[in-house]
Amino acid sequence: MNIDSIVENQKLFFQSKATRNISFIKHQLGKLKNEIVGKEKSIYEALYADLKKSNFETYLCEIGFVTAEIDRTLKNLEQWTKPKRVRASILNFPSKDYIYSEPYGNTLVISPWNYPFQLSFAPAIAAIAAGNTVLLKPSEHTPNTSKLIHDLVKNVFEAGHFAVVEGGVSVSTDLLNKKWDYVFFTGSVEVGKIVAQKTAKYLTPTTLELGGKNPCIIDDSVNTKLVAKRIVWGKFINAGQTCIAPDYLLVHSAIKKQLILDIKNEIIAAYGVNPENSLDYTRIINKKHLKRLKLMLEGSEIIFGGKVNEKDCYLSPTLIDEPNPDSEVMKTEIFGPILPIISYDDEEKIKDILHRHEKPLSLYVFSNNTKKSKYYINNFSFGGGCINDTIIQFGNHRLPFGGVGESGIGAYHGKFGFDTFSHKKSIVFKANWLDIPLRYAPFNNKLKLLKKLLHRLI
Ligand code: NAD
Repeated sequence: MNIDSIVENQKLFFQSKATRNISFIKHQLGKLKNEIVGKEKSIYEALYADLKKSNFETYLCEIGFVTAEIDRTLKNLEQWTKPKRVRASILNFPSKDYIYSEPYGNTLVISPWNYPFQLSFAPAIAAIAAGNTVLLKPSEHTPNTSKLIHDLVKNVFEAGHFAVVEGGVSVSTDLLNKKWDYVFFTGSVEVGKIVAQKTAKYLTPTTLELGGKNPCIIDDSVNTKLVAKRIVWGKFINAGQTCIAPDYLLVHSAIKKQLILDIKNEIIAAYGVNPENSLDYTRIINKKHLKRLKLMLEGSEIIFGGKVNEKDCYLSPTLIDEPNPDSEVMKTEIFGPILPIISYDDEEKIKDILHRHEKPLSLYVFSNNTKKSKYYINNFSFGGGCINDTIIQFGNHRLPFGGVGESGIGAYHGKFGFDTFSHKKSIVFKANWLDIPLRYAPFNNKLKLLKKLLHRLI
């Protein structure tokens, strides 16, 4: 089936109202979960073929995340879809006021390659839960996973409800040139801006889940060994190809030496002396990205790692000491296993560095001083983050996940995903047994009463 027929089909399917039938949605999502569970081995194989991802990481960040989103949706869908009664305004007395969640209609989901399974299915599940159709375009850079996603969806859904179209930039552009009711994009800032321009043409509501340079601030009150363990885990999982991975460290000079030593030890403890032989260390997605990362190493003071194997797209966990703020590695999002370490004595320096960059997707602070941690929360804008850990904000579905400014627009996960894909329709049910005359002309001397009422009865 070509793209135009799928799109036409999805329009008709949405008009049929089938996508809004809760038992049908639950049935389909249940089938999807069974299909995923049944294909667990093939999912491991696909992620290994594309990224050499270990089964543990694949389960934690891809399969388990998606099946848990399905379980949550199945458990809560009736509750989420129910119209929510809110307190009525006295100005509308007598009335009952409600918020209705209405599906947008035909949605487009475009996903990236770094967590190709999770970042395709998590938004798609939210869109289906909210009663929409989905056309998903996964990344062309993870062909094994994209093909598998395609097959999984085909085995469960009618193309009119949820379909997958594989392809690269030209397919993506084709899809974006069409009129959608909602577009959900995960990817780079650069492409996010292209998507926003395309969707502006039809004023299509759009979520943009983008990236940025995520700072990680460490003061001199911490236990460096524990900090090192948590930084190494969050930075080198998926070989640093994680949108919320710490991008660079800002560490108090009093503990810098010890922290570097502990980070080196933690890298060795996690991946061995030669991480190339570790079954747990992911590869760089392709040669183009490896080349981009190698450029960042040029002229940098490498104090650990820096080993490259072009053939296998391997770059070892790498530490860089005191990079020049204007160097390549400090200019753009790293999105790889390179960790620059910058020391500070005066917190003004932290402020200066943070202000050099756009609002990041996340920010991390390691400190035993709560007042100091709160200072960063209250004085800097970023998507989300952690105090005394890295990346785990992603794991709580009760927290909205998304960026701000250049790191994105909108959020999802759990109920937030359902809300993202629903238009919130405000409805006042007005009763007829009373009709207060205040609002009707002639207004005569009603202004005084209006002023009193408006401010007293809020
Ligand atoms: P990308 O922007 O290159 O590609 C994302 C998707 O857009 C792909 O499906 C691709 O085919 C499509 N695309 C690429 N160029 C396009 C164009 N010119 N027009 C239309 N579509 C186009 O991103 P990527 O390299 O796949 O992923 C890495 C980026 O994604 C990083 O910046 C990372 O921070 C970000 N990211 C963000 C999140 C998040 O949740 N905020 C999650 C993962 C990745």
